[in-house]
Amino acid sequence: MRCAMCRNGETREGKSVITLTGGTLVAVFRNVPAKICHDCSEEYFDKETTNMILQMAIESFKKGVALELKDWDKLSFS
Ligand SMILES: [Zn+2]
Repeated sequence: MRCAMCRNGETREGKSVITLTGGTLVAVFRNVPAKICHDCSEEYFDKETTNMILQMAIESFKKGVALELKDWDKLSFS
């Protein structure tokens, strides 16, 4: 798709790192599937991915975890 940020580049399938912070929690998700702009490096995540990331971060937050590090490739979504 065409990049919405620079309106110039095309996005390509890639992987990215998402870092979320909330309260005392720092959650880092690696190898998250993303569409990345070839031109400006803007990253786009689909809604499903974003929701899952948020859900996992909320669960960690509820457990009182201070630092969560997850590798998307090693997660099992059953
Ligand atoms: Zn762009």
